Amino acid sequence: MTKDTNAELFERARRVIPGGVNSPVRAFQAVGGTPRFMSRGEGAFVVDEEGNRYLDFMNSWGPLILGHCHPEVIEVIQNKAALGTTFGAPCRAEVELAEAVVASYPGLEQVRFVSSGSEATMSAIRLARGATGRDIIVKFSGCYHGHADHLLVAAGSGLVTAGQPSSAGVPKAFAALTTVLPLDDEEKLKALFAAEGSRIAAVIIEPIPANNGLLLQRKEFLLTLRRLTRESGALLIFDEVISGFRVAKGGAAEYYGITPDLATFGKIIGGGLPVGANGGSAHLMQHIAPAGPVYQAGTLSGNPVAMAAGLATLRILEREKGWTQLEEKGVLLEKEVTAALTGVDLPWTMTRVGSIFWLSFQKGAAPRSAETLDQNAGARFSPLFHAMLDRGVYIPPSAFEVLFLSLAHTPADMAKFATTLRDSITATAA
Ligand SMILES: *Cc1c(COP(=O)(O)O)cnc(C)c1O
Repeated sequence: MTKDTNAELFERARRVIPGGVNSPVRAFQAVGGTPRFMSRGEGAFVVDEEGNRYLDFMNSWGPLILGHCHPEVIEVIQNKAALGTTFGAPCRAEVELAEAVVASYPGLEQVRFVSSGSEATMSAIRLARGATGRDIIVKFSGCYHGHADHLLVAAGSGLVTAGQPSSAGVPKAFAALTTVLPLDDEEKLKALFAAEGSRIAAVIIEPIPANNGLLLQRKEFLLTLRRLTRESGALLIFDEVISGFRVAKGGAAEYYGITPDLATFGKIIGGGLPVGANGGSAHLMQHIAPAGPVYQAGTLSGNPVAMAAGLATLRILEREKGWTQLEEKGVLLEKEVTAALTGVDLPWTMTRVGSIFWLSFQKGAAPRSAETLDQNAGARFSPLFHAMLDRGVYIPPSAFEVLFLSLAHTPADMAKFATTLRDSITATAA
């Protein structure tokens, strides 16, 4: 029996799955061409159905901080699965992972596990509304918080925008309760709080915005946000679905020394299986059912196999001093890229925090808000992406998605990334 090619699989997929994928950005729409159907992962590498091997800097969009198929995590998953994959009753692994998460993150006393980052933010918003008795939510343009209705709202250009849905199917009436502000702008934030502070249930932010490029914020901006929310009785939600357990054991809260009221997690805490969580003080979390009146539930929540995979991942990170190692790898990568791109005829900046990095090809300083992103810089990206893929380096298929290092990346992998980037830039400029 011959194996299907990527193209054949994509054709079959498109017949039975909308757009051929189960998450839109996998479809290569921004870069064109045929998505690679992956058959297996090995440390820093992925292998597609045609047997092509790629050095992977996407790491499944963030969860795989140890790389693919870490032998200890795989062993834990296999052993746990053999004991039963779901019970619909409490299990020890939930308690152990909850204890580990609570011990890791500033201000956290309780967590509730769900099955995705989207669920985690959706439930955190409901909790914030239930706990404050207020309706208005504030988010920032360019921050992504999953696909719940009231969070699928983007900004107009520049000014405060009240509620333009960014997806069909989101009622205007829902979106009207979400106010969008630009990042990096204390004045707009102060103006909004002066006018509406007492009606705001919560402000949700990616403290390290990593879904529209990597828009690193000034600490003063985050501190102003912390102060204004506290003064007005609005809750501050840090969406740490990417940054949690990635930039530090205590996520962006530890990195910046700023403690939010609620935090949401996903990606890394599932160790490659579907897990999300939200958490905060016991006082706040007591509002959630069955302790309190804010309803939230899940048939597969706290799944024993997923909990065990998450716990194994956190233990390995801790034991291996993962965050220190990843910072060292990041420094090395930056050095390699700088050396390789010296003399290349293209403006570029590399933004990095720990093992999250992003290359932009726009002039000037690294952007800090969606409004200052040069959308045209994305036009160069598509040929560059394919040139890198052809040379065996897999990066996310969009100019505005960040790249991730894992503990599996070696110094040689970093060098390979840098020289492949240079060769690809040269090849596509010609
Ligand atoms: C990925 C992501 C989400 C959504 O998580 P899913 O597991 O994809 O639902 C939410 N917030 C942030 C910051 C994310 O990066």
